[in-house]
Amino acid sequence: MSLKPFYPVAIPILNGNEKKYVMDCMDSTWISSNGSYISRFEQAFADFSNAKHAISINNGTSALHLSLLAHDITEDCEIIVPTLTFVATANAVRYCGAKPIFVDCDPYTWNIDPTLIEKKITNRTRGIIVVHLYGNPCDMDPIYKVAKKHGLFIIEDAAEAIGAEFNGKLTGTLGDIAAFSLFGNKIITTGEGGMITTNDDSLAEKVRILKGQGMDSNKRYWHPIIGYNYRMTNIQAAIGLAQIENVHWHVTRRIEVGNLYLKYLRKENRLILPTTKPDVTNVFWMFSVVLKKGGEKERNNLMAYLLSKGIETRPFFYPIHKLPPYMPGQNTNEYPNATSISERGINLPSHAGLSEEDIQYLCQCVQEGLDLLGS
Ligand SMILES: *Cc1c(COP(=O)(O)O)cnc(C)c1O
Repeated sequence: MSLKPFYPVAIPILNGNEKKYVMDCMDSTWISSNGSYISRFEQAFADFSNAKHAISINNGTSALHLSLLAHDITEDCEIIVPTLTFVATANAVRYCGAKPIFVDCDPYTWNIDPTLIEKKITNRTRGIIVVHLYGNPCDMDPIYKVAKKHGLFIIEDAAEAIGAEFNGKLTGTLGDIAAFSLFGNKIITTGEGGMITTNDDSLAEKVRILKGQGMDSNKRYWHPIIGYNYRMTNIQAAIGLAQIENVHWHVTRRIEVGNLYLKYLRKENRLILPTTKPDVTNVFWMFSVVLKKGGEKERNNLMAYLLSKGIETRPFFYPIHKLPPYMPGQNTNEYPNATSISERGINLPSHAGLSEEDIQYLCQCVQEGLDLLGS
């Protein structure tokens, strides 16, 4: 009897200097948030992103929180966010006491629909968080236009999109400041971890102070503001440095996996495949499909069938306006695209370790599942 293969949605791939650098931390005893790997990782991340500053953070959610705090976001502010994203995007706004104002998504890219932003702007609106969902960069030009017209800042939630490009420019430099996640299932990882990139010296300085308990950078134990302990450890940075040394490989493999899925599912007219605009590079953090017909039940049936074949999948995020802490006061009919796409969307196994044979098999199982559904 042969063991049935199992295909997880995501696995971290630690095929570079990760172990060597971690052992170096152990041998040197530099295991907390001081140590040379922190600055080496930050420098390498900044070099890769073409950003002036890269600041390591303990996770992606904290990176979003500090990106908002660096813009002095408080209780009376409103921040525009897409409703179809991971909950952390909106939670970070609430951590500041501010109000996330949700916007529906584009039916094809699944990213924030730029044409719906302007009508949500009030005299309290301070900024927009764009999320490059599942590795597909947002259509930035119309977002720049509306942000400029109303004097709003742009934060990129680039948690899922390291290496992705819009008009030849990498994520991390497409707005005023960007938050990356380095969680274990992201394109590169430090286990738990995050990074902030910006070209703005004053935002960078504020972030550095906020992440280290608000301590004055010239006067030890003098804390002019309330800060946080959002630091990354040298051990995490050691893993991160090894990962970023191989970032081109990690990103290229994701793109290859995405393109192979597109190749084998191209003729599958029961699915909506990811739409990538011509001026962007999608890095396919999660290769995702949306059922053309049916709803949540059919989607869940397909996922159950795939699981029976040893294939792990994930449902799309629930639109945040439907989650209990965010639902009060919402008009739930207001976000038809996000609602419908969320119910019919599936993330397929998408990590860098998948071969062409794996993807052929995965696509064959998806099609068998669709046949059984009779859709
Ligand atoms: C993963 C993720 C985050 C949060 O990152 P953590 O490192 O898990 O805190 C935020 N936004 C999006 C879109 C994500 O996918």
